[in-house]
Amino acid sequence: MPLMAGSTPLTRHPVRVFEARVAEVRNLSPHFRRITFTGPSLRAFGVPGPTLDLRIKMLLPTPGHALRPPGTPNGYLRPGWYQDWLRQEQPGRGFIRSYTVRALRRTGPDAEIDVDFVLREGPRSHSGPGSSWAREVSAGRRAWFVGPDATAHTDATPLPESGINWNPRGARHVLLAGDETAVPAISSILETLPTDITGHAFLEVPEPADILPLTTGSGVQVVWLHRGGGTVPRGLRLRAAVEQAIIAPGREPFEYAWVGAEAGSVKDLRRYLAGSGLNPRTSEFRGYWSMGKSGSGTNGIPVPSGLEPRGD
Ligand SMILES: Cc1cc2nc3c(=O)[nH]c(=O)nc-3n(C[C@H](O)[C@H](O)[C@H](O)COP(=O)(O)OP(=O)(O)OC[C@H]3O[C@@H](n4cnc5c(N)ncnc54)[C@H](O)[C@@H]3O)c2cc1C
Repeated sequence: MPLMAGSTPLTRHPVRVFEARVAEVRNLSPHFRRITFTGPSLRAFGVPGPTLDLRIKMLLPTPGHALRPPGTPNGYLRPGWYQDWLRQEQPGRGFIRSYTVRALRRTGPDAEIDVDFVLREGPRSHSGPGSSWAREVSAGRRAWFVGPDATAHTDATPLPESGINWNPRGARHVLLAGDETAVPAISSILETLPTDITGHAFLEVPEPADILPLTTGSGVQVVWLHRGGGTVPRGLRLRAAVEQAIIAPGREPFEYAWVGAEAGSVKDLRRYLAGSGLNPRTSEFRGYWSMGKSGSGTNGIPVPSGLEPRGD
């Protein structure tokens, strides 16, 4: 619904800040921790259809300091809010990291959101603000994130502006591939795919115990891959599985690919799939994190050498 300033309608920004409470913290497997958020503000959280690969931006405090969330006191943001946030001083600014809405439920008076955080192994120096927060948080804590404002959406709002990138544009034979950071997104997408969609989904996780329950009514064949607890290099099995699906005799070409993983692995898969005839511009290739850089995605800040995480 548009806001009115005098007689001039103001279009609200499609995303806003939500203040929530941690309702539950539950380990799903050795490397996945599900954190459930709730609170009255979440009544306004959402997109018109299924959440698919919907991302939110967690606003994480600098340890020991209060967070100053961006936007107005009631959470409204305006275009350019991220640049404004970058100009704020630390420690109040804190950190922003992207995560996926694994589930959105509207069963009680307030909605609930599940987010599955990857817990990395190794010494604390290998953590970042996101993984450290997920490791230490407990029920009852306050949390802030930027996500889609359901009340600000109109039919004209493009889904990417709300945080959804899955867009097969009518493709019927699809490829989904990702590491553990993309397991929540791929799982949510598969849950809502219609029966007549076929293809392959490859999910690479650290170890067999990280294979999670996943349902799909589609014809997509789901294949879990694992790195044997660190004995197999990251991305190797994912690359081999994609390659096998491409070169298998009699295979049907993929019309659309959705790939989310470590940035180097995504770059390599993009190049390989483009070489196999897929148009990368109409597919979705997204670095979910970069080895040796802090910050979600491909544009992180280099971490000082000696503090890089292990490859598992
Ligand atoms: C659209 C999108 C959706 C995402 N959804 C999820 C999600 O649902 N769950 C989830 O857990 N992550 C998700 N991610 C990935 C997550 O944002 C990154 O892993 C992020 O770097 C975590 O922040 P951090 O503060 O823990 O580490 P950072 O401060 O960003 O990084 C610190 C160090 O850890 C390394 N590092 C970062 N991530 C990993 C990793 N997964 N494994 C090993 N080393 C790592 C970095 O290379 C760096 O050296 C998503 C990313 C994007 C772009």
